[in-house]
Amino acid sequence: MQKAWRTVVAVAMALSALLMGVRVWSAGPAGPPPAAAPYAGLLAGRTVVIDPGHGGWDPGAMTRRAREADINLAIAEMLRRLLVGTGARVLLTWSRARPIPTHRKYRVQARSQWINRQHADLLVDIHTNVGSGGVGPQVFYWDGLPSRLLADAIQEELSGFTRTHRRVTRIDQYVLRHSLIPAVNVEVGFLSHAQEGARLTALQYQRDLAWCIFVGVLRWFVGGAMPPESLPPPNPAELLQR
Ligand SMILES: [Zn+2]
Repeated sequence: MQKAWRTVVAVAMALSALLMGVRVWSAGPAGPPPAAAPYAGLLAGRTVVIDPGHGGWDPGAMTRRAREADINLAIAEMLRRLLVGTGARVLLTWSRARPIPTHRKYRVQARSQWINRQHADLLVDIHTNVGSGGVGPQVFYWDGLPSRLLADAIQEELSGFTRTHRRVTRIDQYVLRHSLIPAVNVEVGFLSHAQEGARLTALQYQRDLAWCIFVGVLRWFVGGAMPPESLPPPNPAELLQR
């Protein structure tokens, strides 16, 4: 076989394997995606901490429509499932299974110390924004190139999907500033915005956002070894519907 043809066949086989993997993944039963998923094993040996903002007695931002902490947690749990499918160890600071008791005072210092004890590779904080006139997801970091690159990768995915134009920005937040590992705070959108606020409470939109964050994290881990165009486009509508 000529070299050009061999390349074409190899690319076609890789693409069909990838697409088949996505289909198997999206149709799979509850639990981690099967080994046929395109990313199985990609992040084996890696640890990711996801911190859904607020929780317990602290609901975060509130509108008539929703409580921020609920949205943060929903997206965090979707992101966890996606990352578990890559073989990563994924830890949440709190979850539906391990909620923060509502009577307990939320202490950011304790949360930060717990995160730093996990010897993880990165931290993704998830929050939902409010503010008059604001729209679109925005990713924040405190310091360091690894955090900046992680923020850039996630922002690119989220901005592309939502067609909004907020920029990665440095921010002085306790958890970010005290993090011993690369860390970002993903503000997934504005609860205060009429249309975006409504979308943020919709399960499918939350899945799409989780998928964008997931692809950004994958891109950061592969560190340029895998060009962005070799990853499937964000937001296959079926993903995580099990
Ligand atoms: Zn918040």
